[in-house]
Amino acid sequence: MDFKNFKTSIEDNGTTTLVAVSKTKPIEMILDLYHQGQRVFGENKVQELIEKKSEMPDDIEWHMIGHLQTNKVKSIIPHATLIHGVDSMKLIMEINKEAIKINKKVNVLLQVFIASEETKFGLDKSELEAIMAVYNEGALPNVEIRGLMGMASFTHDLIKVRNEFKSLKNMFDYTKDMLKINQDIFKEISMGMSGDYQIAIEEGSTMVRIGSLLFGSR
Ligand SMILES: *Cc1c(COP(=O)(O)O)cnc(C)c1O
Repeated sequence: MDFKNFKTSIEDNGTTTLVAVSKTKPIEMILDLYHQGQRVFGENKVQELIEKKSEMPDDIEWHMIGHLQTNKVKSIIPHATLIHGVDSMKLIMEINKEAIKINKKVNVLLQVFIASEETKFGLDKSELEAIMAVYNEGALPNVEIRGLMGMASFTHDLIKVRNEFKSLKNMFDYTKDMLKINQDIFKEISMGMSGDYQIAIEEGSTMVRIGSLLFGSR
């Protein structure tokens, strides 16, 4: 995969950021990609992210991409540049609370449920609206909502996948309109993995999370 055209940092001005999903993969493989220029890596387990971060060069952005439990928030927030999977009011309140204690602003994406499978995590529209209302009141001062994240259904039906990505883009536009604060930093749509990232980019993704295409299957 040629990733040279992707952004390597969330502050970069390009259009699509490649998050290299390095979960379960050894440091040597991650370093190899690092030496080719990649600077954004994603992990889905708190402990694994922290360990790899301590063994890798400092100029890497580590993104927490998986489901995050409330009791792990305190451990992850000093280390993660962006938390992709914020999927409940309880979780975002906890992130804000712990972020205040360490005087940090924590970047998050709200995970929206777009698939038709029961197993996928994510907010529905009313839960999303409830969080936006609290955020708009200024009650989450140490959280910066940078955009939305979603996962499409695991299916070969690419029309269905495309429609799910379209629905996330629509939800993104709707949410941006709802925002009364920090509208300028609300710009990321994290969608697309190894099997569907091209469709995701066509539908407006700004961040693709790719593991097996880069590192081989797990
Ligand atoms: C593992 C994982 C990915 C990457 O999946 P691939 O199919 O290997 O590209 C992306 N997003 C999340 C949330 C993941 O857990």
